[in-house]
Amino acid sequence: MQRPTLLVCVLLLVTLASQAQSQSNSSTLPKPMVSFDVNAMDKSVAPCDDFYQFACGNWLKNNPIPADQASWGRFNELHERNQLVLRGILEKQSADNPKRSSNDQKIGDYYASCMDETAINAKGTAPLQLTLDRIAGLSDKGQLPALVGYLHNNGVSALFEFSSEPDSKDSMMEIAGTDQGGLGLPDRDYYLKTDEKSVGLRKAYVAHITKMFELMGESPEKAAADANTVLSLETELAKASMDRIERRDPNKVYHKMTTAQLQELSPGFTWSEYFATIKSPSFSSLDVSVPDFVKGMNQLVTAASLDDIKTYLRWHAVHNAARLLPAAYVDENFNFYGKTLTGSKELRPRWKRCVQFTNGDIGEALGQAYVAEEFPPSSKAATLKMVNELEAALKADITELSWMTPETKKQALDKLAHITNKIGYPDKWRDYSTLTIVRGDALGNALRASDFEFKRQLKKIGKPVDRSEWGMTPPTVNAYYSARQNNINFPAGILQPPFYDPNIDAAVNFGAIGAVIGHELTHGFDDEGSQFDAQGNLRNWWTEKDRQQFDQLEGCFLNEYDSFVAVDDLHLKGKLTLGENTADNGGVRIAYMALLDVMGATPEKPADGYTPDQRFFVGWAQIWCESYRPEFARMLATVDEHSPGKYRVNGVVGNMPEFEKAYGCKPGAPMIRKPACRVW
Ligand SMILES: [Zn+2]
Repeated sequence: MQRPTLLVCVLLLVTLASQAQSQSNSSTLPKPMVSFDVNAMDKSVAPCDDFYQFACGNWLKNNPIPADQASWGRFNELHERNQLVLRGILEKQSADNPKRSSNDQKIGDYYASCMDETAINAKGTAPLQLTLDRIAGLSDKGQLPALVGYLHNNGVSALFEFSSEPDSKDSMMEIAGTDQGGLGLPDRDYYLKTDEKSVGLRKAYVAHITKMFELMGESPEKAAADANTVLSLETELAKASMDRIERRDPNKVYHKMTTAQLQELSPGFTWSEYFATIKSPSFSSLDVSVPDFVKGMNQLVTAASLDDIKTYLRWHAVHNAARLLPAAYVDENFNFYGKTLTGSKELRPRWKRCVQFTNGDIGEALGQAYVAEEFPPSSKAATLKMVNELEAALKADITELSWMTPETKKQALDKLAHITNKIGYPDKWRDYSTLTIVRGDALGNALRASDFEFKRQLKKIGKPVDRSEWGMTPPTVNAYYSARQNNINFPAGILQPPFYDPNIDAAVNFGAIGAVIGHELTHGFDDEGSQFDAQGNLRNWWTEKDRQQFDQLEGCFLNEYDSFVAVDDLHLKGKLTLGENTADNGGVRIAYMALLDVMGATPEKPADGYTPDQRFFVGWAQIWCESYRPEFARMLATVDEHSPGKYRVNGVVGNMPEFEKAYGCKPGAPMIRKPACRVW
């Protein structure tokens, strides 16, 4: 069970659906991708009219979304390539060879077990039986905390989340934390909105739960009644949950209290029993992120009947296991979470799902082999050099800002100087020696991996934060900034073309990976990150006047992105995407400044008919060429803090006079915003 990525700003949201891959029976590795792709461009469109279309138009035309996809873009293409590398590693290690290292045995046997669909079908729900029996055996609400503890150990997201986290106000220490959770739909809004689409999705969700219960042997009537029970209980949890926009305020999700105070909030749920079952280290205080949620959860377990609670838990147990149960469960799971929610037409081939699960469950064991094959020390050194160049540019930018007072600048520069850079992979790999992976036990392996991860998180409580740890696995095509650790993290998986290409001009690399680095750095200074100091503590280091200025300047982005249409008549939420939009705008500007510094007095020569300035902007645009199915676009507008690719490009370049100049845009050109928005 993973807590929401609170206070960790990723470059893009990667859901199960968007990780979906196209059908391919060939395991030969395609050539590296092209960084500046003239064939992707649509030169019939003027760059000052629609820059995204100019840079990506032909790519969009020639790359329809594959049937098993919810979206398709350049990220997916690189992810696809990385998947093939991982498949090669896993197929080699899945041979039952006694000479394999301990890690190779784990990744190989995990993958082989997952691939063995015949064995999985033959076992039916037997691997889940112990869990189902324990739920059926619940005879008194007093036993509920112990049962929920058991389920959390097995990765079942029941009622709430519990884990360790760096203390927002003492960021060197790990504390215990509990947060809202326990829903089967992607967001609280799905339960509460009353528009036609939302009502329809809830009906489809109930139909899906009904089918899952029928597969487990319930009569159609009982299954339908039980599904409605699940929806009604989850709706109560949704009502008690804080919405995503509010959650962006770090003060609103930090409430340190004693365990006695937590107990007072929820007299119907004995926390000490829960803590004893999960064997957490002892502690006397914890972060209760959303106290109202705990009250709502208490209200629910007090008011609901024992049978209804058991129904709710049974649903979450089977939902958690569905991906590794027999084909009928996998297909029904895809039918709702793939088809209905994201618009995908076909289930991904099994090997791609198994690569994804192996990476998700024991990713640092797999990542070591990936790094050895795909990430030479030269790439690490080159990226680190660029990071230093970007940091120098941000330092110059902060120093020259006209709106910020010297007092706050001093603090901002101190924060910048304290950002640590993590590139490629961890210095110290995770030790999986206590995790048992058994050949032929696909679901058991996944449950033990959940248990391993849950316990690993709990062990941190009361200890100093290990800042060398990674929150993403090495093959991941993504990046993140951690506000409570004040560090930026770039997995090896993204340090490849089209993001970073050792054989292309600096202009393109700075437009692509350079702007991504700038994006992550800027997160330390967006609406959320700026509330944390150099040490990662939630502490105000701004003068009141500067903070007012900052809020006002960010308000410009808020209005700009509010005006963009996500799908049909659904607009982006400017407030939800504010941090990411600030990071995109700041990141591209800083990368551009860094490029000018690096080129110095001798600019690079034009190539493919474009000047270095022009190539820089195409470099940025072409990492975001992507299309979405309408269902998925609708889901992302609700849950994703990132804007779609089109607006990550056009929303940024329109704010930059440097773009206007590079392409010689005429006054009044559609791309150019007046007045332009700018914070950093
Ligand atoms: Zn971001």
